[in-house]
Amino acid sequence: MRKELNLIANNQFDLLVIGGGITGAGVAHDAATRGLKVALVEKKDFASGTSGISSKLVHGGLRYLEHGQIGLVYESLQERGRLLRNAPHLVKPLSFFLPVYADSRVPGWKWRTGLKLYDLLAGFANIAPSKTISPIELGKQNLPWVKFPPLCLQYFDAQMDDSRLCLEVIEAAWQMGATVANHLEVTALDLFPGRLSRIQMRDCLTGEQVECEARVVLNATGPWSDQLRKLAGESGPDLIKPTKGVHIVLSDFGLKTAMLLLHPKDGRVFFIIPWMNRTLVGTTDTEWDGQLGKISATNDDIDYLMEGFNHFLKPAVKPEVMQSFAGLRPLFNAEASPSSRSREFKLHLGQSGMFSAVGGKYTTYRAMAQEITDVLCKKLDVTNACSTMNALLPGGFSVKRNVFESNGSRELGWRFGLSLIDAIHLLDRYGKRAGLVANYCLQNKELAERIDPSLPDLMCEFAFHRDFEMACLPDDFLYQRTRLGLLLDNKSLEKVRIKVAPFCKNHQS
Ligand SMILES: Cc1cc2nc3c(=O)[nH]c(=O)nc-3n(C[C@H](O)[C@H](O)[C@H](O)COP(=O)(O)OP(=O)(O)OC[C@H]3O[C@@H](n4cnc5c(N)ncnc54)[C@H](O)[C@@H]3O)c2cc1C
Repeated sequence: MRKELNLIANNQFDLLVIGGGITGAGVAHDAATRGLKVALVEKKDFASGTSGISSKLVHGGLRYLEHGQIGLVYESLQERGRLLRNAPHLVKPLSFFLPVYADSRVPGWKWRTGLKLYDLLAGFANIAPSKTISPIELGKQNLPWVKFPPLCLQYFDAQMDDSRLCLEVIEAAWQMGATVANHLEVTALDLFPGRLSRIQMRDCLTGEQVECEARVVLNATGPWSDQLRKLAGESGPDLIKPTKGVHIVLSDFGLKTAMLLLHPKDGRVFFIIPWMNRTLVGTTDTEWDGQLGKISATNDDIDYLMEGFNHFLKPAVKPEVMQSFAGLRPLFNAEASPSSRSREFKLHLGQSGMFSAVGGKYTTYRAMAQEITDVLCKKLDVTNACSTMNALLPGGFSVKRNVFESNGSRELGWRFGLSLIDAIHLLDRYGKRAGLVANYCLQNKELAERIDPSLPDLMCEFAFHRDFEMACLPDDFLYQRTRLGLLLDNKSLEKVRIKVAPFCKNHQS
């Protein structure tokens, strides 16, 4: 995809989507697929908001069963099944162990019942049935670091690369004809419901001002929704009441399966998850009344997560804290406590005539987009039906994973000279587009080298991100296109910043 400002400036669209997180991406894809003339604009980088700092789980949300949100869990499990099919390179099954200790807030029978219901709600989309792990089996699981539980259950969910999935949905929208731009901020809106609205934008890299017109405007700015509503002249109570979520990234200590645990301090669910040669621990869920865009993990957040980790893992396990990251959940305003606030979404039509999509979770983005686009199409008198349910994303493949990987790695080996590990890495991240990335290695052997010795990322990826994925600034490459910014300690990250500089826009060589 390419940023084509000239296609946005002074042009008219059926739909302008503001916000390049997964909500905006999903709607842009669906609407473009139905034949609407769509533009999507993002003030920073795609997925640089909440959609790049999630727990990376495509899940039904076992804990939502406790709050009786059966409908949400059912829909999430069905969407999990679709994402496993449509984006198999970015969404993969993940096994979870659920150890139940004598002092657990939730007793074993309740977990068992919950898991059976979870299996049932997944139906044909289930990955594998949940089960009890016997003490003998548990002994064989090579989990010497976990304090031995009297009961251990196992279930399955899925893990994604959140920012890359968002990028692929935007790529899919672009392939269907949407015009997309990052680093383009909406700065003013003159909205005329029923007629063409005028929207002013600023290119954040050059300062250039551009304008376009749209018949319908969708505010998909997540935590920034109320800010944009005010910019559009809307008043009244805020639609969003964000909560803050923090993760810490620990060095790898050999964990092969994720773990669902209850925090010893407040009984909240938290996860320990193997992720990209590291371990992810999270998340917190606390009220946030601070400034948008200035969110970071505090010492208290990190101590809370480490307290949970240390409570269940044996003292001998002392992984290094390599990074932490924080974000805001754009949940709709309700009087419930942060953890029990609903993850469902609402489409709000404001006094200004602008639609705002608020709430929701990543897992259900496609279904949300379908519902939203149905409403927008009605407004625009378009009757085309949604067709994203079974649409493969650009890197998606329909053959079995092992067949795809063995054929693909052989081909990347003989065509581009890649080792098996490097080939699998590219196939895992780019799916059937891996050849486009590997192709750079033919032009320049140095591009076949690793970016950092501890991680499989290759230099050729930076070239691909620059040419095909609209990466401009160092952070675009390090946080949203690769995940190096979340995985490396600060010292290693500094070295990588030097390597990425020649690929960045406005680089002076
Ligand atoms: C800690 C945490 C963990 C989570 N874990 C999971 C999980 O494991 N699974 C799951 O299903 N869900 C999870 N979620 C929820 C999920 O991540 C969010 O619901 C989802 O990412 C929200 O996407 P969004 O597009 O609405 O918002 P965002 O991703 O925040 O996107 C909004 C975008 O709008 C842009 N923007 C703002 N103002 C303007 C403007 N004026 N002009 C142009 N652009 C603008 C912003 O820069 C931003 O990129 C988690 C959330 C958090 C916080």
